[in-house]
Amino acid sequence: MSAEKTIEFKDEGKMTDDNRGLHYEENLLWEKERSDTSGVDMPKPAGAPLRTGHEARGDIGLPQVSEPQALRHFVRMSTWNYSIDHGFFPLGSCTMKHNPRLNEKLARLPGFAAIHPLQPASTVQGALGVMYELQNWLGELTGLKSVCITPAAGAQGELAGIMTIRRKHELSGESAKRRIILTPDSSHGTNPATAAMCGYEVRNIPTKETGGILSLEAFKEALYKTDENGEDVAGMMVTNPNTCGLFESGVKDMADLLHAAGGYFYMDGANFNAIVGKVRPADFGVDVMHINLHKTFSTPHGGGGPGSGPICCTEELAPYLPKPLVVKDGDAYRLEEDGERETTLGTLKGFQGQFGMHVRALTYMLSHGKDGLRQVSEDAVLNANYILRSLEGHYHAPFAANGHCMHEALLTDKRQKEKGVSTLDIAKMLVERGFHPMTVYFPLVLPGTMLIEPTETESKDSIDRFITVMKEIAEEVEAGDVEEKYHSMPIATPRRRLDEVKAARNPILRWKN
Ligand SMILES: *Cc1c(COP(=O)(O)O)cnc(C)c1O
Repeated sequence: MSAEKTIEFKDEGKMTDDNRGLHYEENLLWEKERSDTSGVDMPKPAGAPLRTGHEARGDIGLPQVSEPQALRHFVRMSTWNYSIDHGFFPLGSCTMKHNPRLNEKLARLPGFAAIHPLQPASTVQGALGVMYELQNWLGELTGLKSVCITPAAGAQGELAGIMTIRRKHELSGESAKRRIILTPDSSHGTNPATAAMCGYEVRNIPTKETGGILSLEAFKEALYKTDENGEDVAGMMVTNPNTCGLFESGVKDMADLLHAAGGYFYMDGANFNAIVGKVRPADFGVDVMHINLHKTFSTPHGGGGPGSGPICCTEELAPYLPKPLVVKDGDAYRLEEDGERETTLGTLKGFQGQFGMHVRALTYMLSHGKDGLRQVSEDAVLNANYILRSLEGHYHAPFAANGHCMHEALLTDKRQKEKGVSTLDIAKMLVERGFHPMTVYFPLVLPGTMLIEPTETESKDSIDRFITVMKEIAEEVEAGDVEEKYHSMPIATPRRRLDEVKAARNPILRWKN
């Protein structure tokens, strides 16, 4: 909102005239208030003492606006939020799939929604049963039968997983010599960040020369780099399918060598949507992994709600998992008690984690069943390959020659760059054309990457519309002389290109009068 456009309205306080169509600009509530109005604070009573005998309450410092003004303020802002319920959301790595309303209905049942974590276990047997059954489903789907559902997100699951490995090394007296975590250069930023937070040195395994996937040679080089037996390595973190949308088919051999060296294999399971019901990570050597319930198992995320990142591990690592696990004694469920498992790494999250997400995820599993979950991964992979094959003639598709992709298609701006148009410009043109952009500039293995994940829940029509617009963009850029036009996109939005560097360097986090 520019200062010269600000007009003083008698009834509405200060407003801007930037409203277009029925799309409203919105300024701060404090800018709307007028000195001569009252909203939350009542006008002072004229002289009459309070009948309760107390002092009158002072002003509480909220802006003085009427109820309709306050309501409109928040409702208008809520319409600015793009969500999976608005339209196609092809953010690679994020698995923005439809959140079935059945999940919401069940999570709102009073027996789930209105209970308290401090209630005696005997009064919440149903809720504990849900968590126990969720642990079992995750154990079955991953082949890793020991499950802790408390972590609050994928990143916290990673932390929990690496702390589990660290605890194991600590109690075996090996933590002083095992200082290194291996991870490919394509890994999600949370992988090296987690290893560093746990005090490990991060050793990257390069993948670019091997078409975006790990090679046994590069892995061996990293494993034995500073110790001929690899005994300074604590573990390895690999995302599978990886962040280039490719299945790491060589990891079993790497896991065997890692195990022989005394290390553990952590799998980042954020991309489990591509393999759920098809492959059990335990079978290719994974020791511990996290699952994003808010990706694979359709619970809301982003602005939509809290995440949940359970971890699953082998029996060998089970003693070190965070507490509490849900246990079953005879017919009764309960949470583990303090002191019950001395080897645990401790508590990472209050109570039992995001219970509402546990209900939603189990609802999704039960409503799909075993065959339905397998269909999920098959359809997700089919949709991504449809996009890859439709667009590979228009955009540089660096790994398309490897064969099929998994659940996401990777393109780059190599061809468009020659005409002065970059991935950022393509993303902004997508916004102009009514599409939320894909993930851009990630993974970092190549310049100008675009990672597109349609998920299984998009119809062929919606995918075809996206493909059509992507092709039109490529053709327009190919024809040339559109540099200026693309650099000025988007133009139809209330805000255009922001100075993102300035916004990141000088964020204004507080309203000042
Ligand atoms: C989403 C994601 C994460 C992190 O999960 P959050 O729930 O956002 O913390 C980690 N790794 C990969 C590959 C992801 O896609």
